Amino acid sequence: MTNVELDGLRARLDEINGQLLELISERAQVVQEIGVVKEKQGVPKFDPEREKAMLEKLVASNKGPFTSGTIRSLFKQIFAASLDLQSDEHKKSLLVSRKTRKEDTVIVLPGDITIGGLSSVMVAGPCSVESELQTRTVAAALQKAGIKVMRGGAFKPRTSPYDFQGLGMDGLRILREAADEYGLLTISEIVDPAHLEPALDYVDIIQIGARNMQNFELLKAAGELNKPVLLKRGLAATMEEFLHAAEYIMSRGNTQVMLIERGIRTYEKWTRNTLDISAVPILKQESHLPVLVDVTHSTGRKDILIPCAKAALAAGADGIMVEVHPDPATALSDAAQQLNIEEFNTFFSEVKASGLFR
Ligand code: PEP
Ligand code: MN
Repeated sequence: MTNVELDGLRARLDEINGQLLELISERAQVVQEIGVVKEKQGVPKFDPEREKAMLEKLVASNKGPFTSGTIRSLFKQIFAASLDLQSDEHKKSLLVSRKTRKEDTVIVLPGDITIGGLSSVMVAGPCSVESELQTRTVAAALQKAGIKVMRGGAFKPRTSPYDFQGLGMDGLRILREAADEYGLLTISEIVDPAHLEPALDYVDIIQIGARNMQNFELLKAAGELNKPVLLKRGLAATMEEFLHAAEYIMSRGNTQVMLIERGIRTYEKWTRNTLDISAVPILKQESHLPVLVDVTHSTGRKDILIPCAKAALAAGADGIMVEVHPDPATALSDAAQQLNIEEFNTFFSEVKASGLFR
C-alpha cells in the first residue's frame, strides 16, 4: 500500500469518525429530550425492555464484520452513557445541590442564632437526657461557656433492646426546661414520625440519626415541618445517598436542613467509626446546606477530639457536635466517649484558640 493510499484511507476514517460523533451527539440530544418527557410523566429513565428491543433490532440488522456480541457491547456502552446523561441532568436539579442554589443556606434559629454562613456553631450536651439534675448541670455549664445550642437524646436508638432507651417525651420536656432556664436552644433525635409533631414544642432542631438516615417515611414527615432538621450521615452511607436523604426532606418543602458527618464504618478498630474529613469539603462543594461534624460519635474517643474538631473546621465545617456529661462514668449511654464539664471547657477553649472557630 502506498502512502497516498494510506493517507486516503485515514482521511476517510477521520471523516467517518466525524460523522459518528455527529450522530451520537444527535442521539444524545434526543435522549435528553426523552428524559424531560419522562421526568414530566414521572416514569423511570431506565427501561430495560426498550433497551433489549433496541439491541435485538440492531443485532438482527447487523451484516458484519462485527459479531453480534461486539455490536451488543458497543451499543450497551452508548445506552449507558445516555442514561448517565439523564441522571446528570437530574443531579443538576437536586434541591440540595449547589447547582440549584449558589449561596450557602443559613439556618436562622430563635434568638437570631444562625448555623451556616459566617459563624461556627458548637452543639454540645449529653448523649441522653437522664434526669433533671444531670440536664440542668450540663445546661448551666454550657451557658457559662457561651454555648447556644444544647443536644440531649430522649428517644435513643440503641443497639440492644435491653439498653437504656431514653426518657421519651419526658426527656424532651426536661431538655426544654433546662434549656429555657439557661437561655439555650435544643436539639434532640426523633425516631418515629408520630413523635415529630409532639416534639415541636420542645425542640428547636429535630435530629434524624445515623440509623434512620434512610428511613424515608421519617424523612418525608420531617420534610412537611417548618422546623430545622439536622440529618446525620448513615453508618455506611455514601455521600450521594446522604445528599439524596437530605433531598427527601427538602423535596417536601422543608428547606431548613443541615448535614452532619458522624463517621462511617470501616475495618478500623482504634476509633468507633472512621471520621471522613473528606466529606466536609465535598458536601460543601456539592451542596449549599450547612455541614457539621460530630467528633464524639465519629471517633468514640476523648483523646483526639481537639485535633479532629480543628481538622473539621479547617476543612470548612460550619460547626461541631460534642457530647458532655457531668459524670461520664455513670452515663446511661456512651459512657466512654462523653467529656466531663472540665474536659469540655478545655476542649472548647483549645478549639477557639486555634482561630478556626469563627
Ligand atoms: C446521637 O447523636 O445521639 C446519636 C445516636 O448519633 P448517631 O445517630 O450519629 O449514631
Ligand atoms: Mn451518644
